[in-house]
Amino acid sequence: MKLPKSLFQKPENPLEWFDSRSKSSMPDIPDQMCISCSKCKAILLTGDLNENDRVCPKCGYHFRMNARQRIGLITDADTFREMDRDMRSSNLIGFPHYDKKLWHARLESGENEAVICGTAEIGGNACCIFVMEPYFMMGSMGTVVGEKITRLFEYATEHSMPVVGFTVSGGARMQEGILSLMQMAKTSAAVKQHSDAGNLYTAVLTDPTTGGVTASFAMEADVILAEPGALIGFAGPRVIEQTMRQKLPPNFQRAEFLLEKGFVDEIVPRAQQKDYLSRLLSLHEKEA
Ligand SMILES: [Zn+2]
Repeated sequence: MKLPKSLFQKPENPLEWFDSRSKSSMPDIPDQMCISCSKCKAILLTGDLNENDRVCPKCGYHFRMNARQRIGLITDADTFREMDRDMRSSNLIGFPHYDKKLWHARLESGENEAVICGTAEIGGNACCIFVMEPYFMMGSMGTVVGEKITRLFEYATEHSMPVVGFTVSGGARMQEGILSLMQMAKTSAAVKQHSDAGNLYTAVLTDPTTGGVTASFAMEADVILAEPGALIGFAGPRVIEQTMRQKLPPNFQRAEFLLEKGFVDEIVPRAQQKDYLSRLLSLHEKEA
């Protein structure tokens, strides 16, 4: 017996039809138009968040911020002069897939490397400034990051200028092996020379500042500031718990805990940072 073709055909559901038609007439919503706050879970419009300097208007949570946006927020308009912009990392030890990773990082961040250096004015005070870029391999420190920061400190020493630095980093860049670890000593030497010449260095630690960056120039500043809630540490809490076989206290490695223990001098919310830095720089201004 031959069965009719329509035997297994599903009947049309008028509601489904309505649904698909109504979808096609809906406006296109771009991706990442909204973002959920990691702390208070409020749904925020990305545009509103950017206008509020990427701080949640409901609970004050500090979202990650790209380096150029931060330079725009902290420095006086049209005073930033970039140095060593074209320096790029290469795959020095032939680490598998590193070239591809670098290519992606450049595309994602729009930057050549994980730190931007230059000179600028903050509230009319001239200074050297470096800002690390979280969207370039999470601000990891390779040879170029180390070299750019070293050159900035050397320039600042030569011209008797203060340095202001914003850190955000996952630590040393493992794709460059021992060469990335060498940057810790190299940058530290440049910071020491700058300090010995009597110049001021202020660091602002932002979320997260970890590994080799914490263990070198991030923690070597004369004045160490931090953003609220920033994770600051060397090794991650799980590694420490496993090594010490001890339960760590709550809030461990957060800026507030470090302030309490004396590792951080002050926690300065993003909206007050420019004024705060401007005051610090003018207080320490050297006589010509
Ligand atoms: Zn929030």
